[in-house]
Amino acid sequence: MMAASGSLKVWASMFAALLIAGACAIAAFSPGAEAQEIGCRGDVVLDAGHGGTDPGAVNSRYGLNGLKEKEQTLDVAERLKALLEDKYEVCMTRALNSETLSNSDRAAYANTTGAKVLVSIHMNGSTNPATDYTTTLYGKWRKDKALAQTVFGSLSTLPAAEGTGAIATRAPYSFASGVLLKSNMPAVIVETVFITSNAEGKLLANGTGARQQQIAEKLEAGIETYLSAH
Ligand SMILES: [Zn+2]
Repeated sequence: MMAASGSLKVWASMFAALLIAGACAIAAFSPGAEAQEIGCRGDVVLDAGHGGTDPGAVNSRYGLNGLKEKEQTLDVAERLKALLEDKYEVCMTRALNSETLSNSDRAAYANTTGAKVLVSIHMNGSTNPATDYTTTLYGKWRKDKALAQTVFGSLSTLPAAEGTGAIATRAPYSFASGVLLKSNMPAVIVETVFITSNAEGKLLANGTGARQQQIAEKLEAGIETYLSAH
């Protein structure tokens, strides 16, 4: 009895130690964040908006189960990462469409990387399928506004999804998001295009990836212009 009780006690304390170790490991990031590259140090953090149980805006007229913002933002983020990696180290807040992250998770992760900028990639939504424009959002004026304006300048040269000329624009505006407010570095939310637009949906769903690449290239140019001046 003594021996059995003793080994049970040892096992119990080992189990408790494992539980504590496990709790520490996930304390920094919520469950679902495992695919983040923990320990990544970089110049740029890319945050693919939404993910996991949060699809973001959906265009149900295109794609097999609708065109989902969480999938499109990750697609653009991966393309942008590949473009930036010639010059910069890049960290990603998420790498899978199955990941659910809070805005606090995203900012907390960004703050561990030592990055100079955080770019949170989104596509806008509207009930009007004719609505399409590009804009950027900033949190703290002094921290974020120059980045928001520079990236907006580059996004403004994105070709319109339909017809000729450039996409319509809305000037950068202030938005109280945890991604912006809780991050230590200049941060911007880019509402690149309206995923709910008929013309954008058609382009994004055509299977070539050309529209996603165009968006990634405009973001790259904006980020590089900002980083070369700051
Ligand atoms: Zn979004």
